[in-house]
Amino acid sequence: MTDAHERRSRLVVLAGPTAVGKGTVAAEVRRSHPEVWISVSATTRKPRPGEENGVHYWFVSDEEFDRMIAEGDLLEWAVVHQAARYGTPRQPVDLALASGRPAMLEIDLQGARQVRETMPDALFVFLKPPSWEELVRRLVGRGTESAEERERRLVTAREELAAETEFDVTIVNHEVHAAAEQLVALMTHSPTDL
Ligand code: 5GP
Repeated sequence: MTDAHERRSRLVVLAGPTAVGKGTVAAEVRRSHPEVWISVSATTRKPRPGEENGVHYWFVSDEEFDRMIAEGDLLEWAVVHQAARYGTPRQPVDLALASGRPAMLEIDLQGARQVRETMPDALFVFLKPPSWEELVRRLVGRGTESAEERERRLVTAREELAAETEFDVTIVNHEVHAAAEQLVALMTHSPTDL
């Protein structure tokens, strides 16, 4: 028998339409399953109130993001909502996988597609809203975006919903704790189960 800690773990990539609650589900996994390693992305967007550098994101300048791209530091990166750049620092992912810890990325669809090219063995999980109406309600309810920004995100969300078929597994986000538990259960399955 192989000791799980001696084995490289399988990366789980969580994606889904905007406002489906990816960030909330990831935060719930972080809270209830500290054994799971969750990537901290770099972004050029400004921090929202309560967001901390190194915890929610690495908040970097455009110049710093350019440097990370040029030096090959990012596993994937994308411009999200035509507004800011977001990317996954490569080295922490490699270290987490090598340590055998369950590891996940919470990224947008463009990023997930890039990871599929470079890491086809990862498990791609699509987080889906219970309905389109619920997705709109969550986007409006969050209240952190302007009307123009919301409209832009809804256009992106419609396109993103159509991408479900590209994924290995779908989780419907009826309730955040249940969705987080389903996600963690997928991470702790042996790779041959899926
Ligand atoms: P927010 O600005 O609301 O924190 O995140 C906006 C979007 O950026 C979310 O859909 C989130 O999944 C995505 N995102 C966060 N980090 C990354 C990343 O490292 N790479 C990519 N491609 N998307 C990311």
